[in-house]
Parts: sequence; structure tokens; C-alpha cells
Amino acid sequence: MCPTIVPFMRETKKEQDIYFTSLIDTMKILVATEKPFAKKAVDGIREIVENAGYELALLEKYTDKSQLLEAVADVDALIIRSDKVTAEVIAAAKNLKIVVRAGAGYDNVDLAAASARGIVVMNTPGQNSNAVAELALAMMIYMSRNRFTPGTGSEIQGKTLGIHAYGNVGKLVGRKGKALGMNVVAYDPFITDEAVFEADGVKKVATVEELYKASDFLSLHIPATEQTKGSIGYDLLMSMPKGATLVNTARKEVIDEAGVVRALTEREDLKYITDIAAGNQAELDEKFGKRVFATAKKMGAETAEANINAGLAAASQIVDFLKNGNTKFQVNK
Ligand code: NAD
Repeated sequence: MCPTIVPFMRETKKEQDIYFTSLIDTMKILVATEKPFAKKAVDGIREIVENAGYELALLEKYTDKSQLLEAVADVDALIIRSDKVTAEVIAAAKNLKIVVRAGAGYDNVDLAAASARGIVVMNTPGQNSNAVAELALAMMIYMSRNRFTPGTGSEIQGKTLGIHAYGNVGKLVGRKGKALGMNVVAYDPFITDEAVFEADGVKKVATVEELYKASDFLSLHIPATEQTKGSIGYDLLMSMPKGATLVNTARKEVIDEAGVVRALTEREDLKYITDIAAGNQAELDEKFGKRVFATAKKMGAETAEANINAGLAAASQIVDFLKNGNTKFQVNK
């Protein structure tokens, strides 16, 4: 609750300082999650928020946008998972100063609307990377072993693993691939320091074409941006070696779905596995049977560890921002 006495009515500087501190200390942080965090994560978030002297509010398993609009009305900070923070939500949140997406991708937040109001948007990079990387490797083995059905499979050891984008997830996939005896190559035009690749024993290639041409397994880790949307399709798939598999734990938007259908039709040896079901998944399943697979629901970050890590990081980042102005993880600069 805001005190009703206005600051200039306070007599001394000290009284004014106390007044402002009391304002800061009443800040309200909302965790709004259609798909809730694990209890352990919520308990940890509460501890961080309350130790900082703030108030925690919870809106879990909400079923209608109107519930979110109502809940954000008086909050200063918002923690979300895959929840959509649209311009309408931002307009309804009159006191909002910061939104933290507990996770890597932040395409569920209207950045322009937030920036227009001077609201800081952050993600929690790296907190769920290991979970996603483990799934990517598991997907490679699953496809190599005929989706765990009878028949002779193949091994991933000795095969070439291509990493498309060497960020937090890509790096871990690369290191784990090396540990499993794979030859690892990577492409990321935004990492100019060769040492980043050398440190992991990974070969950096200069072009995306070179990457796909070399890769028995291609693990996708590019973000969905205007530049990358629909960029992975027919030509790249057709250039891959015999028996190659495309592994997508990034976003479905980066795929040119018609191009994938065309390539899988023309090349009966190619396979596609994804953690984000394609818009045309039913068509893919029907046409290509065991050569394609989509997880029932995006599950890359769905581990207890990732859930807790991302939730706690979100709470700590909010406290650090509100108390110290730290914007290290801001994505709408
Ligand atoms: P990150 O930000 O750490 O790394 C992204 C990398 O992509 C950076 O190194 C950047 O230089 C590179 N990049 C950007 N544009 C590129 C381009 N056009 N070509 C090549 N490289 C480019 O992100 P991350 O944590 O590694 O996550 C990667 C993606 O994985 C996220 O954007 C998200 O879409 C997805 N993700 C999915 C799940 C899941 O549950 N399946 C969970 C976490 C992340």
C-alpha cells in the first residue's frame, strides 16, 4: 500500500529517505504462470522476494486472459514462463517496471510495447540450457535406434554433429557430443572469437552451407528472428550427407515446413525430429512415418532442475534490478 502523505510534507531529509524506502519496500512481484513452476521453485522465489522486503503474488493455472489483466493491475514486476505478455497486458499493468521471462526465448513478450513504456524485459539465459542440450542428444540417439523399435540401428559415435548457433544450448550440445565421441562442427556468425570454439575442441565453419553439408546430425539452436524465420528448408536439408537427421529444439518458426516436406519426399534417407511440433506435423507423420518425430509438448526445458534454476534466477534478477538498477540481462535495450 502506498502511504498517503506526499513526500514534501515530510519535514527532514531523513524522514523523506524513510518515506522513499518504504515505497520501494512495498513493491509487488507477480509470478503469472499458466503452467506453474514446481513448488520448490515457488518457495525459492518467495524466499528471495521476501528477503528483499517485497511482496509476492501468485497467479497460477489461469485459464483466461482477463485473470492475467486483473492480476497485473498493481504489480511492479512480473515473472512469466511461456505466458503471453501482449500490449494489452502491458497497458493493464500501470506500475510495471520489469518483466522477466524465466527461460531463454522471449518471443512471447511484446518488446516494442514494453520499451514504449520504459519497461525492462529480461530473460534468464543459460538456466535451462543443460536440460535442452540433454534432450537434443537423446533425440539423436532415439532416431539412430529406430525410435526404440526392433531393427538394426546405428551409433552416434564417430558421426559429425553440426551445431547451428553456438550459444548457451549449442555449446553444451557440442561438449556433450564430443564426450560421446562425435566430430563437432559449429556455425555462429556472431561469435568472432575463435577461442570459444577451440576451447571445446569444436571446428568453426565459415558458412551455413558448409555446416549442413558436413553434418550427419544437425542440431538447431538459432533464435526465431526476422532473419532466421523460415530459413531452414529444402536446400540445406538436401545438402546433408546420406542418412542425416535434423534435430530441432529451437523454434518451429525457423523451419520452412513446405521445404522440409519436399526434401523428405525426395530423399528417403533423411530424418527430422523436433521438440516443437510443426504446423504441418500431421502431414509429416502421415507421409514419413518413423523418419519424423515431434514431442507431444515442448519439453526441452521441462526438468525439475531447469524449472528451479530459471525461477530463482528470475527472482534474483528482479531484486538486483529494483535495488541496484542492474540491467545485465535486459533484452529490449
Ligand atoms: P543463446 O541466446 O544463448 O544463443 C543463441 C545463439 O544464436 C547466439 O550465440 C547467437 O550468436 C546465435 N545466432 C543468432 N542469430 C543467428 C543466426 N542468424 N545464425 C547463426 N547463429 C545465430 O540462446 P540459447 O539459450 O542457446 O537458446 C537457443 C534457442 O533455443 C532459443 O532462442 C530458444 O528459441 C530455444 N530454446 C528452446 C527450448 C525448448 O524448450 N525446446 C528451451 C530453451 C531455448
